[in-house]
Amino acid sequence: MVKVFSGGVARALGFLRCHGAPTVTRMIKTIAFDADDTLWHNETVFVATHKRLCELLSRYHDSEKVDDLLNNTERRNLERYGYGIKSFTLSAIETAIELSNSQVSADEIRQIIALSHDMLDHPVEILDGVPETVSALAGDYHMIVITKGDLRDQSRKYSLSQLDPHFTELEVVTEKDPATYERILKRHRIDPDEFLMVGNSIKSDILPVLEIGAHAAYVPYPHTWVLDVADREPEGPRFHELEGIADLPNLLTRIAG
Ligand SMILES: [Mg+2]
Repeated sequence: MVKVFSGGVARALGFLRCHGAPTVTRMIKTIAFDADDTLWHNETVFVATHKRLCELLSRYHDSEKVDDLLNNTERRNLERYGYGIKSFTLSAIETAIELSNSQVSADEIRQIIALSHDMLDHPVEILDGVPETVSALAGDYHMIVITKGDLRDQSRKYSLSQLDPHFTELEVVTEKDPATYERILKRHRIDPDEFLMVGNSIKSDILPVLEIGAHAAYVPYPHTWVLDVADREPEGPRFHELEGIADLPNLLTRIAG
């Protein structure tokens, strides 16, 4: 049934809009969330897999050597492979060949591939406070997700998270640098003044966002990937640090002044 408002009802609704509803002046109109270790756990899965890989290759070297070499291999391959589990797997196999002086067996390589399958099939574990916060803000803000990594894996986690109805878009990018953020803001016609990025990585979610004149809220996570450690501290009035994501509504109120 189509409801047609009479003039009186329409006028009453108009009155409510003008006088009854609280008027909120919001500086921030769009909130972008990082995904891994901001919306759901990720680095803990990698840390556990690193440990299993070290055990798997322990007959060739001690765990510290495996970790160091793996980190170096991943760093060297970033430009070629980008981020994500499939890139990690190729680097892990390369590390195993190097560490074992090409003696690694086909069965050991099969076990490394099995580790990566476990990661790709890992259930999505949402961080505390995320569902309530995201659903509380969704009605008042334009919200998107911006994440690095593998398109297929990130899309899988996005869908499994059941958070996707709250966001208008998932942006999976190859790098989180100022140029990438500028491109996204331009495409969505977002003013940097009205944009807040929320994330756990100073290097990827905070510094490049501050550089383009937008707001950035840092929500720390217990583990930071060694290749995602920042080389400087963020500063300025548009940098915000939160204890947890549940503090986000209060921050938005403070920014609105
Ligand atoms: Mg992250």
